[in-house]
Amino acid sequence: MNLILLGPPGAGKGTQAKRLAEKYGLAQISTGDMLRAEVNSGSAIGREAKAIMERGELVPDAIITAMLAQRVSQPDCARGFILDGFPRTVPQAEALDRMLREKGLALDHVIELRVDDAALVERISGRFTCARCGEGYHDRFKRPRTPGVCDVCGGTEFTRRADDKAETVKARLEAYHRQTAPLLPYYAAQGKLRVVDGMAPMDEVARQIEAILAGAGPEAPPPTQT
Ligand code: AMP
Repeated sequence: MNLILLGPPGAGKGTQAKRLAEKYGLAQISTGDMLRAEVNSGSAIGREAKAIMERGELVPDAIITAMLAQRVSQPDCARGFILDGFPRTVPQAEALDRMLREKGLALDHVIELRVDDAALVERISGRFTCARCGEGYHDRFKRPRTPGVCDVCGGTEFTRRADDKAETVKARLEAYHRQTAPLLPYYAAQGKLRVVDGMAPMDEVARQIEAILAGAGPEAPPPTQT
C-alpha cells in the first residue's frame, strides 16, 4: 500500500504517518526529516537547504526528487510507504508518478488532512520533541505527564524545530497555499483524493484514515479554494 498524506504544516501528517507506519508495517518517508538530517550532518544538500528551510520556503524540486528516488528504492519500502511532506509541488507529483510507473507501482490513496489556517500557528508554535526518542509534545495540547520528563523513554532533553517560530510558520503556510494546494485538484482528477477532518482529535483522525484504507472512506468533496 502506497499513501500520501497531504496538508499544511501542523495538520498532523507526521503524527498520523508514524501511527500508520507502525500499524501497517509501511515505511514512513518524511522529506522534512530527511532534510533536517542532511542539515545536521553538514552535507552539501544540508548546506544548500538550511537557509531555505529557515525562511520557510521550499527546497528546489530537483534536490527533493533525487533524494526521494533513492529513498523509495530502499528495501524497507518494498511493503509500501507513506509519504509525509512530499510531494509539495505539481512537478514533484509528476516526478513521483513517473518514478512509480517505472517501478510498476501505484498510489493507493492521497489523504488530505483538512484544517483551519487560524489553528495552525498556535498548533505549530507550541510543538516540541523528545531529543532521545522523538516523541512529539505540545505546550498546550500534550504536555509530558511529569514536567520535563518524556512519557515514553524518560528522556529529559527536548528540542524545538528552528522553523516552528511564528514568523516562519506564516511563510510555510503561504508556500503551502501557493505551491502545494494545487496538488488537491491534481489528485482529485486521478480519483485518488480522500479528505479527513484534521481538526478532530488525533484518535478520531486515525479512525477516519483507517476507514478509508479499509475501503469505507467517502469520495473527496471538491477541494476548497485556497
Ligand atoms: P516539514 O518537516 O515537512 O514541515 O518540512 C520542513 C521544511 O523542509 C519545509 O518548510 C521545506 O523547506 C523543506 N521541505 C520538506 N519537504 C519538502 C518538499 N517535498 N519540497 C520542498 N521542500 C521541502
